[in-house]
Amino acid sequence: MKCYPETYGPAPRRSSRKVRVAHVGIGGDAPIVVQSMTNTDTADVAATAEQVAALARAGSELVRVTVNNTEAAAAVPLIRERLEAMGINAPLVGDFHFNGHRLLARHPACAESLAKLRINPGNVGRGSKRDEQFATMIEFACKYGKPVRIGVNWGSLDPELLARLMDENARLAEPEDAAVVTRRALVASALDSAKQAEGLGLPHDRIVLSCKVSGVQDLIAVYRDLAARCDYALHLGLTEAGMGSKGIVASTAAMAVLLQEGIGDTIRVSLTPEPGGERTREVIVAQEILQTMGLRSFTPMVIACPGCGRTTSTYFQELADRIQGYLRAQMPAWRSRYPGVENMRVAVMGCVVNGPGESKHANVGISLPGSGENPVAPVYVDGVKTVTLKGDNIAAEFQSIVERYVAGNYSRRPDPAPQKRDAARA
Ligand code: SF4
Repeated sequence: MKCYPETYGPAPRRSSRKVRVAHVGIGGDAPIVVQSMTNTDTADVAATAEQVAALARAGSELVRVTVNNTEAAAAVPLIRERLEAMGINAPLVGDFHFNGHRLLARHPACAESLAKLRINPGNVGRGSKRDEQFATMIEFACKYGKPVRIGVNWGSLDPELLARLMDENARLAEPEDAAVVTRRALVASALDSAKQAEGLGLPHDRIVLSCKVSGVQDLIAVYRDLAARCDYALHLGLTEAGMGSKGIVASTAAMAVLLQEGIGDTIRVSLTPEPGGERTREVIVAQEILQTMGLRSFTPMVIACPGCGRTTSTYFQELADRIQGYLRAQMPAWRSRYPGVENMRVAVMGCVVNGPGESKHANVGISLPGSGENPVAPVYVDGVKTVTLKGDNIAAEFQSIVERYVAGNYSRRPDPAPQKRDAARA
């Protein structure tokens, strides 16, 4: 079996930060974790469990649900139960804001069902109530042994902290730009809140930090600063990234720079779904960011050319789409049956210009005929031309070749017979 690591070049160096939040497998040397968030009413147990299951099946390793009222808090343990019955064990994260202190006090089963709490220090109360209510939430996290993400967001930045830093800045001989002070306030809010949480008894290795903003350059600047100032595990994400290609491009542009520098231990892509669009899209985009950067592998990659005037039909686009959809759909079953299959590369190319070359670099590749070319499609397996497909059944035949390649190259080796195993150990 061929492997083509040189195609990507060396993967970025992983974070050198030491803190690992073992409860949820984030930080330290752990792979970067993909997260997502539901957009159902959490009080609707059936709909929320169904969406968590869909996100988990798509590959989300943690799923956050909003816990915004009594009904939502009461629903969380029922959602957990329903997920267990469906065979879905993705950990749930509870997103708490203004009334989290009361909800956690009144719904201990909610706290127990969650794997992690997310607390936004800008949304826990004002004045003296802020510290008191924040402390109550941290005390519940300590009581139930849950890690906490202290998640600052510049849409809800603590106004008192921001006002204080702005006042201090205004008194300087040469005041800095307000945007710089705002960035500093975000980082200060996260670090001050983490220090406060530790003072209340939350262990250092149960804290994850995030400082989300919606501007690409702001996110890069804020996280560089945050990473330089602490060794907490960091949750990375561009907040309110937007819809469609804008949201995907903005998230990728911001996170790729930081991930390349080893900053970020878990990511979420905050895409606004298009009307009727799938919530799972954000999971696929997050996986694709990590996989195309060579940081993790989730699903066999399909390499397809963009097409041009040499491909006058949509046939090769349809084949690329069909193969990509097929490979992704198989992954829930293939993941355990065919270890390593997520590293496979499949090329679907539109003509002979780059088709054979790119196909040879893939594990399995097909070069379809461009317009005016002989209507045949050579297939390459591990760089060697093995067969030339023609006729009306090229798509099905190529899919069968891919299936045989997977079964032949990634099948789990059977356990050796007991005597052989014992002999090997001796
Ligand atoms: S491989 Fe052929 S069809 Fe595809 S973009 Fe290149 S020239 Fe065009």
